[in-house]
Amino acid sequence: MKSSSKNYDVIILGAGASGLLCAFTAAQLGRRVLVLEKANKIGKKILMSGGGRCNFTNHFVEADNFISANPHFCKAALTRYSQWDFIAMVERYGIEYEERLHSQLFCKNSAKEILAMLLAECESAGVDIKTDCDINSIKSLASNDSSDSNKTQNQHNRYRLHFTQASSKLSIECQSLVVATGALSIPSLGGSGLGYDIAKQFSLALTERQAGLVPFMFSDAMKPVCERLAGLALEVVVSCNGREFTENILFTHRGISGPVILQISNYWSPGDEVAINLMPHLDAAKWLLEAKQQHAKSLLKTVLSHKLSKALVNELQTLWWAGSSNLALAEFNDKQLITIGEHINNWILKPSATEGYRTAEVTLGGVDTDGISSKTMEAKQQAGLYFIGEVLDVTGHLGGFNFQWAWSSGYSAGLFV
Ligand SMILES: Cc1cc2nc3c(=O)[nH]c(=O)nc-3n(C[C@H](O)[C@H](O)[C@H](O)COP(=O)(O)OP(=O)(O)OC[C@H]3O[C@@H](n4cnc5c(N)ncnc54)[C@H](O)[C@@H]3O)c2cc1C
Repeated sequence: MKSSSKNYDVIILGAGASGLLCAFTAAQLGRRVLVLEKANKIGKKILMSGGGRCNFTNHFVEADNFISANPHFCKAALTRYSQWDFIAMVERYGIEYEERLHSQLFCKNSAKEILAMLLAECESAGVDIKTDCDINSIKSLASNDSSDSNKTQNQHNRYRLHFTQASSKLSIECQSLVVATGALSIPSLGGSGLGYDIAKQFSLALTERQAGLVPFMFSDAMKPVCERLAGLALEVVVSCNGREFTENILFTHRGISGPVILQISNYWSPGDEVAINLMPHLDAAKWLLEAKQQHAKSLLKTVLSHKLSKALVNELQTLWWAGSSNLALAEFNDKQLITIGEHINNWILKPSATEGYRTAEVTLGGVDTDGISSKTMEAKQQAGLYFIGEVLDVTGHLGGFNFQWAWSSGYSAGLFV
């Protein structure tokens, strides 16, 4: 086993969003920083994000945009390094960006510019990055006391890592070890469970994990309906467990997707129902009763087709009034129309599952924030061990919030490592 010839104060595991921000922040403060990355390329998720244009933050970032067992945990980091700090860096680099729906900020040209900016900051601060690294083991060399007196005493290294790079077995020590390995979503883009294994090794608690920002699938009568409607998108309100979002739903061959479904998936657990309002701006029952007066001879489906696509109305007819499909509006009694209207405003669906980590944008849950300092991201009981980004039990809504959490938590740790 060879020892790496250079000495480092800080080793960061993972050259993704949070790891890179942490790396140059620490290096700008004079720390010698090495980033070890498993993949052959750096920042794969950044490059794929926002359809290649990276939704890098949002103009309005609040604690309410994040899900965590401790909803207050994210506040300190989001204040210390806010969306305005990241936007300022983007502007300093002359990266053109645009504001889209719900104040989401995207690159005008390419996500490559965000990655290039992070790498330029790392390079000018003197950060070393090694790719194709397999972490084999991590050993704690110091006592588990993070008190200040001990910190002075422990200016020596606290961790020894054994890793493999290009079939060479290497060993390296550091004072601060930062876990920025992300979470389980999309293994082909670097998703991995190493961060959770490290947390377990050092007796940190984990909260339950689940795929988030992910499409739903069905095993009931909705399955063929979705297949037939695949490609159709419309604006709806979706609610589940007391949360609701307004945006587009997209029917797919596998089920339902689109931004509104990804958002609500963060609040869904197996067995839960979701409610879809197909006409968010209208009391559909009232409107149908009025239509009965004005268009008594029209078919219900003809009237509905003024507001919803014909393909969708055909499916709703099969589900809700198949036996009366040839009746004119006047032949429906008011109660029937009210029931159909209520279904339109409150269509209850029961997904059988999500598409899982294969397509999920994020992982809900992770390292329990109770064991982590919200100021420094250091483990409270394990001096010199830091967790940042998605590996923690902090998950953002769709809209640039997950990257903002990666930037904010990475920066916070970078100041203290
Ligand atoms: C397709 C897709 C699109 C997205 N779009 C957006 C968006 O537009 N806006 C937004 O805010 N969020 C978006 N997200 C979420 C966002 O990408 C993540 O929340 C964010 O990247 C998390 O940052 P991180 O640093 O914690 O992890 P990552 O950025 O995932 O970085 C983790 C790094 O650690 C490496 N790694 C993993 N295991 C090991 C190991 N064993 N050893 C060494 N290295 C390891 C990985 O290869 C990776 O490089 C998207 C996610 C996906 C999957």
